[in-house]
Amino acid sequence: MDLLLTSIRRLYTINETGKECLRGADMATPSFLDDAFLYASEGKVVAIGYMQDLPDTYSHAHRIDCDGRFVLPGFIDSHTHLVYPRSRHEEFVDRIRGLSYEEIGQKGGGILNSAKHTAAMSVDDLYTGLVDRANEIMAMGTTTVEIKSGYGLTLESELNLLRAARRLQQESPIRVKTTFLGAHAIPQAYKQNRQGYLDLVCDKMLPAVAAEGLADYVDVFCDRGYFTPEDTIYLLQKAAEYGLPGKIHANELGRTGGVQAGVAAGAFSVDHLEECGEEEIEALRGTDTVPCLLPTVAFFLGIPYGPARDLIAADLPVALATDYNPGSSPGGSIPFVMSLACTQLKMLPEEALSAVTLNAAFALRESSWLGALAPGYAADFLITTPMESLAQLPYYYASNYIERVFIGGVEVLQ
Ligand SMILES: [Zn+2]
Repeated sequence: MDLLLTSIRRLYTINETGKECLRGADMATPSFLDDAFLYASEGKVVAIGYMQDLPDTYSHAHRIDCDGRFVLPGFIDSHTHLVYPRSRHEEFVDRIRGLSYEEIGQKGGGILNSAKHTAAMSVDDLYTGLVDRANEIMAMGTTTVEIKSGYGLTLESELNLLRAARRLQQESPIRVKTTFLGAHAIPQAYKQNRQGYLDLVCDKMLPAVAAEGLADYVDVFCDRGYFTPEDTIYLLQKAAEYGLPGKIHANELGRTGGVQAGVAAGAFSVDHLEECGEEEIEALRGTDTVPCLLPTVAFFLGIPYGPARDLIAADLPVALATDYNPGSSPGGSIPFVMSLACTQLKMLPEEALSAVTLNAAFALRESSWLGALAPGYAADFLITTPMESLAQLPYYYASNYIERVFIGGVEVLQ
């Protein structure tokens, strides 16, 4: 069905010049049109313009009058662990009582706790929780989501997590990209044998994931107490042999060279960066590796926030994501991420919007057709409640300002 949105108070087109991302100072000036129309056909944006220039040729289309409302590209959440076995609210209470995230991990909690439960679940079981969470995040404006494995840590469990994510891709309107994160933690049985587990990931899991076509990217938890920069480069080189690019966890817990390893291995993005200083920023400068910040993790764990202003000052294309997962960020709200970006990272509302649309799409290398609303882009967009300024979105941090969500020109969750 052809769609015509009319009288849009402000249409955020983001990228009318065909850039692959918005770097540095450009993040504050995503493109927009006031008093605009948008015409979409066959799932894509075909035309945009001012109402005064609206041609008669679109009169056949289904018309939506957006009087007073903003239209934004659908949000792109480029880093989540959306498929997991169950809530870990018990550990949440442990943390309130004073245990750190690392101490909970050392007790056999954390990722290993999730992995124990995954082992007992079928793909159908995993899918049930996943589809509920996918519906939840679509209602909050997310139209594309990246989903990692990593709560399996055995061959069969890792495959099952990715199979559930691929099933979501087939059965739900939300657009899904999948990432193999076998190197998420070192399982108990390999506690004294990290290399043995890394060999299992590289020599058994990775070939099986590739053979079944289950992943678009490969991730490694490169951080203090987990995997080293050398492990990371080794694994990403193996992944490249299967045509799988890297997107890695780096610098959440310490400055152990994660960012530098990601850049050296040509990773599409390095994500977290709560522990990020001059050396890391120098490593990123001038490269296409996207620094992706996850401010809800700092909010939830009480750790430092990433240095968004320094990254933007270094002319980098900063992205933002939720890291939705049962341990360190049990929430998938991009609107809340944008609020934290503004209040804690001191990003402008426009910078936050660029970070969850075009730059997030670039972190997935899908920004030629996702993350903007210019002709040729997917008709993935949301219609807000009536509002006066983009700043009202992050300002009303607990309000729901999303009225309608469309993916490929089709309304979801009606
Ligand atoms: Zn993560």
